[in-house]
Amino acid sequence: MGGLIYDKNGKVVGHITSPDRLTAKSIEFWETEIGMELRCDICGSRLRSGDQKDHLWPYFTNHNRCRKCLEEEKT
Ligand SMILES: [Zn+2]
Repeated sequence: MGGLIYDKNGKVVGHITSPDRLTAKSIEFWETEIGMELRCDICGSRLRSGDQKDHLWPYFTNHNRCRKCLEEEKT
């Protein structure tokens, strides 16, 4: 895997080195592939579509964020 990240309209929304924005499919993929649940590093909730995965997960979870914690970090 590598390169650019696209949204559903084909617009480039990020680079693979930035933290990953999750979709329901990618969560399913990762959890099956790694055999671990993706959880927010701050509140511990299970991550959902639109949440953020640490690019280095499962080695690091420091940047795993649910949408709520992402919003709180921005402010
Ligand atoms: Zn959270």
